[in-house]
Order: sequence, then structure tokens, then C-alpha cells
Amino acid sequence: MFRQARWDEPLILEGECPGKEKSPLPKGMGRQSPLKLPYKEEHEIIKHFTRLSQMNYGVDTGLYPLGSCTMKHNPSFNEMLASRPKAKWMHPDEPCDTSQGSLEVMYNLQGMLCELGGVEAVTLQPSAGAQGEFTGMMVIAAYHEDQGNERSEVIVPDSAHGTNPASAAMAGFDVVEIPSKEGRVDLDALSSALSEKTAALMLTNPNTLGLFEKEVLEIEAMVHEAGALLYYDGANLNAIMGKTKPGIMGFDVVHFNLHKTFSTPHGGGGPGSGPIGVKDFLKAYLPVPVVKKNSDGRFAFDYSLEKTIGRVLGTQGNFLVLLRAYAYIVHLGCDGLTEATEKAVLNANYVMNGVKEHITVPYEGWRKHEFVATARKLADEKGIHATDIAKYLLDQGIHAPTIYFPLLVPEALMFEPTESATKKELDHLVEAIREAVENAGESHPENLARARVDETLAARKPILSEKMERER
Ligand SMILES: *Cc1c(COP(=O)(O)O)cnc(C)c1O
Repeated sequence: MFRQARWDEPLILEGECPGKEKSPLPKGMGRQSPLKLPYKEEHEIIKHFTRLSQMNYGVDTGLYPLGSCTMKHNPSFNEMLASRPKAKWMHPDEPCDTSQGSLEVMYNLQGMLCELGGVEAVTLQPSAGAQGEFTGMMVIAAYHEDQGNERSEVIVPDSAHGTNPASAAMAGFDVVEIPSKEGRVDLDALSSALSEKTAALMLTNPNTLGLFEKEVLEIEAMVHEAGALLYYDGANLNAIMGKTKPGIMGFDVVHFNLHKTFSTPHGGGGPGSGPIGVKDFLKAYLPVPVVKKNSDGRFAFDYSLEKTIGRVLGTQGNFLVLLRAYAYIVHLGCDGLTEATEKAVLNANYVMNGVKEHITVPYEGWRKHEFVATARKLADEKGIHATDIAKYLLDQGIHAPTIYFPLLVPEALMFEPTESATKKELDHLVEAIREAVENAGESHPENLARARVDETLAARKPILSEKMERER
């Protein structure tokens, strides 16, 4: 039985007066009016945050099958490396002379990502998948401009993650959405959307339904034939790494979500890292600097890319996420990464087959690393919605799946157990889904620190500080 702690925990500064001014400066040299800085003893702060953590749920608590997010185990070894003072306190502007080790990590990681992506050059700068998409779109825009092409449209299938159309639009493109056919790209729809205005197609493979785009080579031929480029959303790389590569499928630009595929604790907006890789003919457009190795074996920043789109981040990348990804890849090796993929795919199919007689799983065939179920029939017949199933699972000590995404499936529930789940956990998930279909209702969750909250209000009018709370 799962129960969350329920502390009546006030905001940390509630009811407290600000701390005393403890200026070490001689009298008369300090501030005229003391700053109103809060003051708490260390042990009070630790208790406060420990209690809050007991009312929270994380990848270290239990199963976290949040589809598309790849909430896998983050090895403690990586955390240990990332918390070493030399890594943690390194200044972003540290000169190359004194940061050779870090540059070597970055240089090697660039090479590893080239290998895994089937691409020829990588920038580590973007700090999230979405920023990688934006960077990739800017590279594609710069390329077309350079070629004298006037191409203003980017095609995005209706199964795409919301960041895809957003990134294309931010880079100045018009977004053309195409419908799917039986869960995959509809080649006829693609064909009629392609024109001399098309700059690129953005695609993730497997797509957000966990289905591999079997016709990817036909898609590739059609897009390139039309003079457009192919962008690969790499958020689902956990389904293919070690097995195939976006570069082999013909993609010209790829982003990697290091925090997903290569293990960094993420969620709630950070921390992330979204390097992009490109084929050779696009290398000159990448953001600068990239890390190079000189003939004397020393590492340095390379600012010489002649057509660079400029910087997309003030620093050289989210270094501690890069370091974790590097450690993860080195630790697992080629065989280990392949095994992670195989297990992630096996786990998703195991759960899908366990639940499909209880809840509708649209589209035929095997999945890759995730699958999408729909509560539409349940909603029509019993009034049980995707939200209700998700809330019921919370009561069973399971993090909710992604719900109401992808948009092409009504009442969607998207499960991605990852390779980190044990068989026991998978069986627990299957059983819990089966029970949810019978028992879910508006009374859940019952065992959590909070019952149902108004999620729309929380998203639209968040109260982010004690000051906002007081002013409310
Ligand atoms: C997570 C995700 C993204 C965006 O990546 P962030 O790192 O969250 O910005 C894009 N596409 C898909 C399919 C994703 O799952």
C-alpha cells in the first residue's frame, strides 16, 4: 500500500521576520538600510526540504512511466562525478589552458554523439531538446538562404511533440501539419504538402505512438527530392540507439535529449541538454564555439565555422549534463547501450500486451519503447477518463503516464516504462491499470499529500513566491 507523507508544511519564510543584518564591515560602511534577507538555521532548512520531498514523487521512489520523457534510472556514479568540486565549480569562462579535462570530455562526447546519430558534426550548446530543435531550424534556414532558396514552410506530422511546430515557428517558418494514417506518416498527405516552399520535414522515429516509421526511406527520398531537409527529433532515441541511426535513415539534422536518453535527473523544466548533430554539408552553420583537438593533442574552442548562426547559449553548454551523458555512454559501452534499447522496447511491449484486453490500445503491431492507450471507450461507457486512470495509478505508487498527448489519440495515456523497470514493477503496473479500469473515479487520489488540484489554474496563474502568495 502506497501512502505519501502529509506534512502541514508552511512556506519556509512564513511568519518569520527577516534575519538580523550581520555585516562584517566596520560601522558606517555597511548599507544604510539593511537588506530584508530571510534567515533560517541550516537544520530548519534541511527539515523543510526533506518534508517537502516526502510529499513528492521521483524516479527514486518508484515506477515513472511518463511517456516521451524517458524517466530512466540515473546512475549514482554519474551524480558523484557531477558533484565533484572540479566539475561543479568550473567557471563557464575558464580558459582552455586550465580546463583541458573538461574540454576532452566535451570533445569525446561530440564524437560519441556523431557515432550514435550517424552524423558528422555536433554542437553541445543547446540546453534542451526544444532549444536543439530551434537551433536545427536556424541552421536549416541559414542553409536555404545561403543556397538562394526561398523556402518558408516546415512540415510536421500531427503526432509530433508540441515543441516541433513551436520551434519551427520561432525560427520564422510557417508550419504545415499533416495527418497520420494508421499512426504513421501518410505518404499521400506528405506528397501533397511538399513543394518548392518546403524547407524541412520534422520527424521523430519511432513516433510518439511508439511506432517505427517503416517507410522512412521513402519519406527521405520524397523530402530530399523536393529539395527540403530532414530533421530528426531525437527524444525517442532510447528506442533505437545501438540498433540504427538517424543518419542512416537519411536525416540531415538530429537533436539528442541527453537528459532523457543518457540519464540526468530531469523534470519540472530542467536541467537539460539538447545537442544537435548535422551532416557534413551543414557543419559550417553550427553555433560556435565547438570543441576541437589541435595537432599537439591539446583541446581548444573552434570559432572558425564560417557561416555560423551564432550562439544559442551564453555558456558552452550545460556542462554537468554533458558530463553525466559522457559517463553514461562510457560506462555502458556500445553493448550496454544496445541492451538498454532492447530492454526498453521489451518492457513497453510487455506492458502493452498485459493491458490491451482491459483498455483500448489503438493501432496494430509491435511498439518500440512506448505505447499509447485510449480511455475513450471507458469515458463513453463508464465516465472514466484518462485523468481518472492516471490519478488511480498515483494511489498505487506509480507516477502518472503522460495523458492527453499525443493529440491525435483522444483520451490518450502514454506509457514508457524504460529499461530501468523490473519485471515486478511492470506486473504491478499492468495490475494497477487493470484495477483502474474497474475502479477509477473522481475520489482518487486518496493516499497522496494532495488530492486533486486545479491544474489549469496552477498552470495559468502560478503562485511562484511567498511575495505573490501574500499579495494574492
Ligand atoms: C521531450 C521531448 C521534446 C522536447 O525536449 P525538451 O528537452 O523537453 O525540450 C521534443 N520532442 C519529443 C518527442 C519529446 O519527448
